[in-house]
Formats: sequence, C-alpha cells, structure tokens
Amino acid sequence: MARIDLVDLAHSYGGENAAPESYALKPMSMTWRQGGAYALLGPSGCGKTTLLNIISGIVTPSRGKILFDGVDMTPLSTQRRNIAQVFQFPVIYDTMTVGQNLAFPLKNRGVPRKEIDARVAEIAKLLDLAPYLNRRATRLTADAKQKISLGRGLVRSDVAAVLFDEPLTVIDPHLKWELRSKLKALHQALNLTMIYVTHDQTEALTFADTVVVMHDGGVVQSGTPQELFDKPAHTFVGYFIGSPGMNILPARVLGREAQINGHTIKLNVAYDNLPKDARIEIGVRPEFVNVAAPGPGLLSANIDRIDDLGRVRFAQMRLGSIKFAARVPPGFSIQGNQAGLIFNPARVHVYADSRLVEGRA
Ligand code: ATP
Repeated sequence: MARIDLVDLAHSYGGENAAPESYALKPMSMTWRQGGAYALLGPSGCGKTTLLNIISGIVTPSRGKILFDGVDMTPLSTQRRNIAQVFQFPVIYDTMTVGQNLAFPLKNRGVPRKEIDARVAEIAKLLDLAPYLNRRATRLTADAKQKISLGRGLVRSDVAAVLFDEPLTVIDPHLKWELRSKLKALHQALNLTMIYVTHDQTEALTFADTVVVMHDGGVVQSGTPQELFDKPAHTFVGYFIGSPGMNILPARVLGREAQINGHTIKLNVAYDNLPKDARIEIGVRPEFVNVAAPGPGLLSANIDRIDDLGRVRFAQMRLGSIKFAARVPPGFSIQGNQAGLIFNPARVHVYADSRLVEGRA
C-alpha cells in the first residue's frame, strides 16, 4: 500500500505543446491516501481512464510527476510500480483452474507455497469462490470469470494500489449490487488502497469513502458521498450526482436574497462580494424544494408530470424554458398544472461561473 501524490500532472495525447484546452487531463495536483477507497466518477470522455493509466504507468504524463510514498514513479513501468489492475473484461487463463488463476500473481513473484495457499483460500472465501477452486475457469459464466479477475487483482497484499476500470460492466444487473457491496467489504477486510473508475454514481457512492468527480479533464470535487450531495462545489457535481440532479437557475443575488423571474427567494447567508462579470446561478436539490398551491409571493412553475418513486414523489416542472424538479409533500394533491415552490433557504447554494461561492453568516 502507498500514499499516491499527483504533482502538477497534465496530459495531452497531441503532445506537450498542444493547446491547453485540448488537454485530456488539465493540470491537477492531488493526494490519494494510503488504504483509502476511492471512486473516480465522471461521464464518458472526461479523462478517468487517462488518469488511471497514468497512475498505473500505461500512459506517461505530458507534464508533472506521480509519487508513491514520496518516491518519483513517473519514468517507471507498470510492473516496477507494483500496481494491480482489474479491467472491464475478465483477464484470466481458461486452461487453469480457479485456484491456479488466483495464485498466479503470487507464484509469479516467488511467494512461498504455504503463503500462496493461505492467501488464495482467504480471497476465494471473501469472493464466494471457495467451492470452485479446483474447477477449470473455461466452464464458468462471465460473472464468475470477472469475480476471478477481481480476486487476482486483490490477491497480493504488497501492492501499492489496486485499480479497477469499470469492473462490473459485464456483470449481470442483479449481481452488480451484491458485488459492489462485496468490494466494499473486501476493502475493509484487506486494507488496500483502491481506486475504482466508473461513470455510474450508484457504483461510486456505494463503494467509495471518497468520490473524485471529473468533468472535462479536471477534478471538480473530491469528497464523501454526503459532501457531494450536501454541498456540490461545482454545478456539474450538483447535476451529475443525485436523482433527479440539482436544479440550477440563473439568478440575481444581493445580500441574503436571490431574484428569479422577479420573485425573491430568501437565503440563509449573505453574498456581498460576488464577482461582477460572473454568471450567477443558484443551485438547490429537488429534495429541498416543496411543491405547494400557487399563492402570492411564491415562485410558481408549470407541472409536466409527477414521478412517484415509492418513498417520495417528485414533480417535474418548467420555469420558463428551464426544467425544474421539486418534492411533492406526502398527502399533497396537485390541482391544475401550476404549483408554487417553497425553498429551504439553508439548502440553496450560490454559484459564480459554475463554482460554489461561500456566503457570510
Ligand atoms: P470513457 O468512460 O469513455 O472511457 P474516460 O472518462 O475514461 O471515458 P478517457 O478515455 O480518459 O475518458 O478520454 C479522455 C479524452 O482523451 C477523450 O477526449 C478521448 O477521446 C481522448 N483520448 C483517450 N485516449 C486517447 C488516445 N489514445 N489518443 C488520443 N486521444 C485519446
């Protein structure tokens, strides 16, 4: 296990002299703590795999350094970095048994037989593979083969980190939940530094202690699932995390008030120094806006439909041309196609050019 530091890292597939905006990875510095469970989350093309490949040594960054426990690893190959990787598709030897597959990374490094047997038995037990240890891998389902790949990634206890690149893609949907939770338990049992790449927020939020959200080649926020939900540092995080995502509305903000379509919304804190030329927006999660009967002083919106999610109902609405979602309080019955909106001031955030601005109490 190791602490991993990325120092002034940046990467362009078009070479170091390419235009800064064309970089697949914009300049970044960050630390991955020893023994942490991280998810690298973002939409397709945001740079997740590039970052993972830089950590593993498959890609050499155009700029910056990567340190393991303070030692510069930038010029070293994947093998010299002592990293384990699990990819989207199973990487196993069909001709070997399940046990031989799990033992392979240890045998390769000359680990004594007794230690190999003990570790293989431990990993097989954690992944429910113990009954299949003597079976040939070729006869197993895609799910079982991917479990073996996970096992091979986890079997060495001396790795600097285990990197997972969308490892549940081939897993049957009903098994995904089980394996996600299993990976979390494995992290706790094995105390390895794990970095898990995914575009699926449920996978990221179930697995990780710290979720690193990427957007357009940069890290926009790194925090616990709760922090990302409560206080998105960027409008992209607000929108990408949560279902439905955060509502983002253009607004004029003065002191403790935000003006939207001529209506005033109270804010819990004051904003006195917003940058003059910035695009100002407010962000509020649908969970913190209640639908009410239209009334004087209430911002109102048109209702498109009601989504009943069982435990909670959300009204999907329009405020002019902007889509908006709000919670329908239990027992509230909607009359007509208009509703008023009641905001929870403590949960309304202000953004300048998409970045969160802290107010003054
Ligand atoms: P996905 O989930 O689709 O794999 P990602 O978030 O992992 O996406 P990357 O694969 O890291 O994103 O890609 C980041 C950017 O770099 C994209 O614009 C992509 O087209 C570009 N890119 C990735 N690999 C290469 C390559 N080998 N050569 C040139 N451009 C590349």
